[in-house]
Amino acid sequence: MANSYKGRFAPSPTGRMHLGNVYSALLSWLSIKSKGGSWVLRIEDLDPGRSRLEFARHIEDDLHWLGLDWDEGGLDGGQTGLYCQSQRGDIYAAQLQRLEELGLTYPCWCTRADIMATQAPHETDGRIVYAGTCRPGNIDPNATHGDRKPATRLIVPDEDITFTDLNYGPQSVNLATHCGDFVLRRGDGAWAYQLAVVVDDALMGITEVVRGRDLLLSAAQQKYLYGLLGFEVPQFAHIPLLCSESGERLCKRDKSLDMEQIRLRHTPEEVIGHLAWLAGIQEKPEPCAPASLISVFDWSKIPTEDIIC
Ligand code: GLU
Repeated sequence: MANSYKGRFAPSPTGRMHLGNVYSALLSWLSIKSKGGSWVLRIEDLDPGRSRLEFARHIEDDLHWLGLDWDEGGLDGGQTGLYCQSQRGDIYAAQLQRLEELGLTYPCWCTRADIMATQAPHETDGRIVYAGTCRPGNIDPNATHGDRKPATRLIVPDEDITFTDLNYGPQSVNLATHCGDFVLRRGDGAWAYQLAVVVDDALMGITEVVRGRDLLLSAAQQKYLYGLLGFEVPQFAHIPLLCSESGERLCKRDKSLDMEQIRLRHTPEEVIGHLAWLAGIQEKPEPCAPASLISVFDWSKIPTEDIIC
């Protein structure tokens, strides 16, 4: 029987998984299994334009192939609820309403960051700091905007948010200069990543969040939201990124390292053994099954420098 420790893997089904996604999945799985906890698979299909069911099916199939099985979630929704973000709109609406009632939100008619809002803001994607153009007091309340629907933004304080990451140590982020007031819901109704990820991790009982370090600073936005909504903050544990020889983060465009190609050339044990070696969990890139690594997993072995694979 699993205890109350819960980890999660939260891929966006916008393409085939690549080696970097598998690396995140493996470390998140090992970390929670080494504590005797359970692992949730949540499908982050918030962006209706980019998410495809077919990619979500591939993610499930690839995880099974690798031996990274989840205890809860996935496309069939598991036993206890819905684990696809596209089906959780009512849940996000109820939490947004709580923030609105606190008087901390406002409508925004600007467009650029709005369009980016459903995506997790990976550091390499370029960061947008919102200037507060539509903040109450900065905009004429009687201005007309045609038929366009506004996005909803959260007012952030000009103060440091602090937290301690399990791998990267103490962090301090001023949200006013890091991102400014951020989007909770897009003008077209799509839910923003920051709201959805907090609501889901909190309501799914997630106790630790393991993911790529390009989302390290997002944890400050999320910690602020946890506080406003009265949820307990999970342990954040960010991991280095896998990079190509040129030093760039792997992405879904790197076809040679996507799971379709990898599965043609390697066994699951080879993939897991290689990633465990890159992560410092085993001394040689020897093939092995994920379960055989649970007893040797230790956060003190995980590097903080990005890894060329
Ligand atoms: N859905 C995000 C991604 O695939 C991950 C977000 C997270 O783990 O918080 O990039």
